[in-house]
Amino acid sequence: MAEKTYVIIGNGMAGLSAAQAIRERDRAGRVVLIGDEGEPYYYRASLSEWISGDLTDALVLGRMPAFYNALHIEQVTAHVARIESGVRQIHLDDGSAWNYDKLLIATGARANGYPVVGLDEILVFRTWADARHIKERLGCCGRALILGGGILGLELAGALHRMGIERIAIVQRSGFVGGPLLDADAAAWLTARYLAPDGIDVFVNDTVTRVEGQTAYLQSGQTWDFDILVQAVGITPVFPETPGLTVGRGIRIDARCRTNLSDVYAAGDCTETQVPGSDGAADRAWQTTRIWLDCARQGRIAGYNMAGADCTLPVQPFYNASVIYTALYSVIGEPHSADGESYVWQSGNGYRKIRIVEGKLAGALLLNARRGDMALFKAIGQPVGDFRAVLARPDFPWNDLTGQDWDYEYL
Ligand SMILES: Cc1cc2nc3c(=O)[nH]c(=O)nc-3n(C[C@H](O)[C@H](O)[C@H](O)COP(=O)(O)OP(=O)(O)OC[C@H]3O[C@@H](n4cnc5c(N)ncnc54)[C@H](O)[C@@H]3O)c2cc1C
Repeated sequence: MAEKTYVIIGNGMAGLSAAQAIRERDRAGRVVLIGDEGEPYYYRASLSEWISGDLTDALVLGRMPAFYNALHIEQVTAHVARIESGVRQIHLDDGSAWNYDKLLIATGARANGYPVVGLDEILVFRTWADARHIKERLGCCGRALILGGGILGLELAGALHRMGIERIAIVQRSGFVGGPLLDADAAAWLTARYLAPDGIDVFVNDTVTRVEGQTAYLQSGQTWDFDILVQAVGITPVFPETPGLTVGRGIRIDARCRTNLSDVYAAGDCTETQVPGSDGAADRAWQTTRIWLDCARQGRIAGYNMAGADCTLPVQPFYNASVIYTALYSVIGEPHSADGESYVWQSGNGYRKIRIVEGKLAGALLLNARRGDMALFKAIGQPVGDFRAVLARPDFPWNDLTGQDWDYEYL
């Protein structure tokens, strides 16, 4: 039988994970990894640490050339303009057409831009090129205005603060920063505990209405002088033009990471998946993929299936852990919703919120005090007795309650 040609569009976490997974099952087929950034694979989620100087270039680069050589993965720099799934072909920008047997679309997302009157150039934070641009433009001591106080905007503010930039402002349209990871109370805690002491100006319920020279005019009537204005106002999935492909906000994939087109798979930030609703399978909403771990997981499942396996994405509670501003966080399950009871514990730089619904653990938000986050992950959906506020304490023995030792499977 002829060897298969696997084509992967996008050399981010999803694409690379798929290439690795394909090689685990098929040592002979041709694996082609196409990316259009002109960079080898790098850790996108580590760009803030690169800006702050905590990580060198070598640590941001995820893989050395020896990795690709050892796995016989062909790397191609090109932009894929169109997919013709009926004839199993992709078309590059230069007009050439390539054939595939199995195709993965792992093209990620682009940063949104918000047009501001008087602003000539929209600067965003998505790629390593953006990060270099921000760092070069800011120099050692410029003034940075960040439009958008979500997770990415806060992460950038934290990186710039660690880099030594003294004048930083965040402008956030809604009433608090850090959503949807934080709720209003946790955001107030982060602002009081971190942002205010570090001298970060935070404008909430506000936006930049116009710019004149280096001055931003806010809706609230206030002004702020800046050297760079960076926008962190969300992302939009991107993918090549593909007739017949079913899309919502992203490419719709099933639990096997298949699209509706034969032999075309998709993974990562360009996709959306159906998540179970609170009342089970009947109430399933489509949700875009935005978490690094989910991109890796989808890439692996897609890769295995492209190479002949039959794997499905695990159904498990939400989990994400990283840095918000300069605080470490874990988000487990659904910590923020109006129903149920919530308990908060705070001490020093630690903040823990636990949410219980109908006597069962529904979610947790841990800021810095992250002890037992894996045990909490295992305990989602488990009855928690009548312990109430004690549940939020970092010394609560979750393993004793659930009777399980914690562990965390990658897949
Ligand atoms: C600054 C920053 C910090 C982050 N921090 C965290 C964090 O702490 N935790 C977390 O879970 N997530 C974090 N994320 C999100 C996480 O990095 C992404 O979810 C993940 O990297 C997306 O991987 P991906 O492979 O789906 O897409 P991408 O990494 O975007 O890779 C897709 C690649 O495909 C290329 N491409 C697109 N279209 C084409 C085409 N037509 N032809 C050829 N190539 C194409 C793109 O240029 C890109 O190189 C962060 C993101 C950013 C930007």
